[in-house]
Amino acid sequence: NTDPVLARAEALITTVPDFPAPGVEFRDISPLLADGPALAAVTEALVAPFAGTFDVVAGLEARGFLLAGYVAARTGVGMLPIRKAGKLPRPAASVSYDLEYGSATIEAPDVLRPGDRVLVLDDVLATGGTLAATRTLLGHLGAEVVGAAVVLELEALGGRDVCGDVHSVFRG
Ligand code: AMP
Repeated sequence: NTDPVLARAEALITTVPDFPAPGVEFRDISPLLADGPALAAVTEALVAPFAGTFDVVAGLEARGFLLAGYVAARTGVGMLPIRKAGKLPRPAASVSYDLEYGSATIEAPDVLRPGDRVLVLDDVLATGGTLAATRTLLGHLGAEVVGAAVVLELEALGGRDVCGDVHSVFRG
């Protein structure tokens, strides 16, 4: 990366072997989140291609929440939590899908207003199942999805073939 702050941010992402299951190389963004300038640069690069095109950021539980909260606070847009099953008192839609490790169900509340344009944010794109399921989920809500962005795309897993177009700040 040519931007020195982004280059440092990328180096802060730490690979942890065999977590949460044998054979998975977990990409831990915690050190990046803990570094103010790195976090500012990465969240800026995350949404830069979508400037002015979205009214709400949807964050995937749990690390996507942190990115969405930061972007919402910085840009004045709203926030939609995409939650794991069983957390929402009044889920409006629910989608089940396969993960790199295990399976999952995600749910969303019925809080979007007509015409809201939604940008989906998450930390890592792996198999693409989560983002694909999120697009389906938001479709059930009748939302207009303007795009999706992740901090790190694990290109070898071919996720974008599953979830469609996605902007990634880093690729590895
Ligand atoms: P996937 O649905 O396979 O694209 O997985 C993406 C979701 O699972 C994201 O919410 C990530 O936070 C998490 N995830 C999957 N694989 C990894 C990984 N190797 N390192 C960190 N997070 C991962």
